[in-house]
Formats: sequence, structure tokens, C-alpha cells
Amino acid sequence: MAYPPRAPVPVVVPPAPLPERPWSASAIEDFLGCPLRYWWRKVAGWQTPSTVPMVTGRAVHLALEHLLELPPDERLPERAEVFLAEAIASELAEAGPHIAEAEVTSGAEAAMAAYWQTEVPADIEVAPDGLEMTVEVPLRGLPFLGYIDRVAVVDTGLRVTDYKTGAPKPRYWWGYWRQQMLYAAALDALDSPVAEVELLYLKQPRAVTRPVYPAAVGRALAELETAQEQRAAMAEADTWEARPGPLCRYCDFASVCPSQRGRAPAPGSAESDAQLIEVGLTRREHAPTEGDLLDMLDDEGRS
Ligand code: SF4
Repeated sequence: MAYPPRAPVPVVVPPAPLPERPWSASAIEDFLGCPLRYWWRKVAGWQTPSTVPMVTGRAVHLALEHLLELPPDERLPERAEVFLAEAIASELAEAGPHIAEAEVTSGAEAAMAAYWQTEVPADIEVAPDGLEMTVEVPLRGLPFLGYIDRVAVVDTGLRVTDYKTGAPKPRYWWGYWRQQMLYAAALDALDSPVAEVELLYLKQPRAVTRPVYPAAVGRALAELETAQEQRAAMAEADTWEARPGPLCRYCDFASVCPSQRGRAPAPGSAESDAQLIEVGLTRREHAPTEGDLLDMLDDEGRS
């Protein structure tokens, strides 16, 4: 069903400093999707509980990481099966009992079955340190952090791959590619130029590859700069834009969002916070540690 676009709504929030950590590619996507949602998550520190798709995505990513760590001739379905079972068990244990084990297991097994239809893992030449790679580098003078699923060596050079365990969503394609182009820019800044980027969809098995065009990288970097300027201006004014759209249907903050409820309590007020706690959200009360940061990247990037 089409979701009618609505005008952005300026929302006043209590003063709060911007996060000091580098801006991750997925946080940039978060901000561009809806700055107010970004404010709740990244500035006010609200954390959303794990969901079945998140746990499924993390388990599949972990199993694929272990599979591709093996020598090529040992990357076999039976090894993947064991890695997946172990990954499901560890991710379920971490997520807690509210997650339905059967749903995670069936989703993860379906994704792994789809994986074997998209590529031959024995043919993948993983670049040195190319699995679950963290890159931190300034882009256009802005601190940037990327968490890359896989970097491989292909005929044309390096290829960055992102696993997607959710269904392809054509309306978000440029967002996916923007993220990939920022990874390419980050690796280029680290003297590892990337020739192509790839999205490996594991729900409806499909691999989509694109060359890294300078124009596409330039567009992604320009949008990063614009997002940075908009974020600074919103923080300065303590007024963040709610951007109602298709994401609202899945947004954990919809029940207290002024764009969705005319009589919603002011974001950041005791009443708004109490309602968020009631719907199962928790709030980080300290500056994020390195471990928190990796958890956040996990949550953001692995679905
Ligand atoms: S409900 Fe929609 S407009 Fe409100 S914060 Fe969430 S995504 Fe943004």
C-alpha cells in the first residue's frame, strides 16, 4: 500500500550534546530517513529491543563470517550448517527469551539456503582482514566509521559486499548504494581503492553488483556533508525534523511522535520517556563505550 508523503514537522527537544563518536554509515541513513528518530536513538540514547529479523541477521552474518574464514575447499554446506546452529544459539542467548527461537531458526536457515544460490563461497578470495572489517577515517574532514561485511579480491580489484537478510526494497536502493559508496570512499582514503560494490540479498536470492563510479562516490560524500550541516543546525536550534513516511510504520517511537499523534507528550519530557519505557525501550545512561559502539553497529548493519 502506498504511504502518502507528508510535510516534515519541526519538533523542539531538550538541549543535548551530539554524540562525539564518528558518524557511521547506518547512522547517516538513520538521520536522512528521519532526523527526529535519529535524535531519539543517537542523541537521547534510547535503545530498541532486539527483534526476530535483527537476531536472524546477526546469526547469518556470523555464520558466513566463520564459513569464509575457512580455506576455500573447506567452505561446504555441512560446515555452514554447524556455524549457523552455533550462531543462532549464541545470538538467541544474547537477545533474551522474548525472541521466538523457531522464527529465527527458520529465517536463518532459509537465508543460508539462499546464500548457496547466490555465490560459490570456494570462489571468494577474501582480502586480508576482509571479513567484518571496521574502518575509521575522516571523509571530507568528517569522522566516519564503517563496518563492512566483506572485502574480496576480484578481477577488477577490490569488491565490497553487504549481506542483506531482509527483502530487497527498491525505494531504498540509493540509500543502500550510498552506504556502499561511503565504504568505498573510506577504503580509498586508506589506500585500498574499491572497484565494485555488491549487495547480496538472502531473502529473495540475488546478487547485485555495481562499479564504483566517481560520480556516485561524489554524490554520497556530498550528501554526507549536507547531512552533517543539517544535523549541526538542528542540534544548535534544539529543533529536529520529524519526516513522516513509510518508516513510521516500523518506528519504535511512533507512539510518542508528534507527527503521528497531535497530543503526543514533548519528546524528552518525563511523560514521553515513561511511555517509551512502557513499550519496552531502554535508555543508555552513560557515554557509549567501545563495546556499546560495536553492539550498535551490529544492530544497525546486520539485517
Ligand atoms: S514515527 Fe515517523 S516521523 Fe516520527 S520519529 Fe518515527 S520515523 Fe520519524
